[in-house]
Amino acid sequence: MSEAVERIVVVGGGSAGWLAAGVIAAGHQSGAPGAAQVTVVESPDVRTIGVGEGTWPSMRDTLRRIGVSETEFIRDCDASFKQGSKFVGWVTGGNDDQYFHPFALPQGYTEADLVAQWQAGHADIPFADLVSYQPHLCRLGRAPKQIATPEFAAVANYAYHLDAGKFGEFLREHCTTRLGVRHVVDHVTGIVPSDSGDIAALETKGHGRIEGDLFVDCTGFASLLLGGHYQVPFVSRQDVLFNDSALAVQVPYADERSPIESQTIGTAQDCGWIWDIGLPTRRGIGHVYSSAHTTDEQAEQSLRRYVAATAGAAAAAAMSPRKLGFRPGHRAEFWHRNCVAVGIAAGFIEPLEASALALIELSAAMISDQLPATRGEMDLVARRFNESFAYRWERIVDFLKLHYVLTCRRGSDYWRDNCEPATIPERLRELLVYWRHHPPSRYDLPRVDEIFPSASYQYVLYGMGFRPQSSVCARLPGDAERAEGFFRESAALTRRLLAGLPENRVLLEQIGRHGMQRI
Ligand SMILES: Cc1cc2nc3c(=O)[nH]c(=O)nc-3n(C[C@H](O)[C@H](O)[C@H](O)COP(=O)(O)OP(=O)(O)OC[C@H]3O[C@@H](n4cnc5c(N)ncnc54)[C@H](O)[C@@H]3O)c2cc1C
Repeated sequence: MSEAVERIVVVGGGSAGWLAAGVIAAGHQSGAPGAAQVTVVESPDVRTIGVGEGTWPSMRDTLRRIGVSETEFIRDCDASFKQGSKFVGWVTGGNDDQYFHPFALPQGYTEADLVAQWQAGHADIPFADLVSYQPHLCRLGRAPKQIATPEFAAVANYAYHLDAGKFGEFLREHCTTRLGVRHVVDHVTGIVPSDSGDIAALETKGHGRIEGDLFVDCTGFASLLLGGHYQVPFVSRQDVLFNDSALAVQVPYADERSPIESQTIGTAQDCGWIWDIGLPTRRGIGHVYSSAHTTDEQAEQSLRRYVAATAGAAAAAAMSPRKLGFRPGHRAEFWHRNCVAVGIAAGFIEPLEASALALIELSAAMISDQLPATRGEMDLVARRFNESFAYRWERIVDFLKLHYVLTCRRGSDYWRDNCEPATIPERLRELLVYWRHHPPSRYDLPRVDEIFPSASYQYVLYGMGFRPQSSVCARLPGDAERAEGFFRESAALTRRLLAGLPENRVLLEQIGRHGMQRI
């Protein structure tokens, strides 16, 4: 093995493999003389997971970073705009039970104690509705920009819903034709270690040995290199987050003019929840549930009822769901020797806040930004990577659990068990006590690159019905007036945006016909 890190071999051609390859190749001019060479080895025998349709606003940066045209991406990946999530039925399960977790930060966030003033003067209004324009845009199915807004620029902060299969093909085409990524379609049958214990090469069915200096394990649930070869232990998080199964279906719209929702809808069920994602040509719907609390048959009944209620009896009768099982959790470390795992090979936890693709983007960016020049530098980078992602997994587990622990639903063991103190991470338990008198803030989430900002905790906490008791936070003179000013600003912004932004389908059709301006 050469001392310089020049040959980067990505194993796996799912979203993780192609995003990692694209970000590293774009950052290091893969294939250019003297530059690192990125190779993707993808099995023709093992299909990609084929789900994963909700993203975060970070995806805009990632696509821009690898030089994609947003117009082409939207056209080719059947993509639509996502402005956050709407949670239905999580608090009581009653008819009016819903709240938003929008992507936009509250108006005036950190500049006044919005929470104290919300409670003092507007407690009858949902927190997100008072401080953000975005729930209002979502309710009316509005797009986050206009046709004249340049590619990747936002009027309202946004991410995408996309077709996972088409996204993989789109990334493969872009990586191989524009970013100099070498593509080998072959099944990896073995791993060849060097004397040092590093991986020297992969053994393949048809291409012999493929040597490398750094191996990126993107083999999904197989975790062939990190889990299989290195036997890095798997850390189960099922004691906190019970869901381990999903049933996924694709449902047609009633007609081609049907509105496209602006947010992912997550609807609570007796033993899990159902995601509903609107793409331009169809909806992606799936039931995530806990096999310890229900059976596949019961889960399918719940899914069928949901589809019947939202798309009609014919759609429900026609559906044939695909079952996916998973172990919620992650590896004990993510970068071991000269192997780093990205995507499901590193870990997977239910897609409640669509954090998987975001973690892939963060992993790919860190590998590319800190790519060791030599093997000698690699252990330092690996330590940093492991520390950073161990922290991120902890925060993801905390944040997802926050969606469950405040529920008043008591109709099934699933919801009762979710509220058992023993299933709640200690740090989250402590914060829930602290948040009785203080809103979530940067002091609770001190890192500059926190995976979820404190605003997200506020949206979910107060959306779930948590009400702070009288705040003991120091309030500066004039704080109440400042907060009122931000509420007025938010209302004015809402009116302006509602007057100027088209519906999702209208904008997507315009993009299809004319494209957006490239910056
Ligand atoms: C039910 C469900 C819903 C989800 N929803 C979301 C969501 O809304 N948002 C989100 O961000 N994420 C979501 N995810 C997660 C998301 O789907 C994945 O994180 C993403 O698709 C990345 O998958 P991957 O590339 O790691 O693995 P895969 O897509 O499984 O790809 C694995 C690759 O490894 C290759 N491979 C395997 N073995 C070998 C071998 N021996 N030799 C060579 N190649 C091999 C395969 O051929 C394949 O190309 C969801 C996941 C599930 C299960």
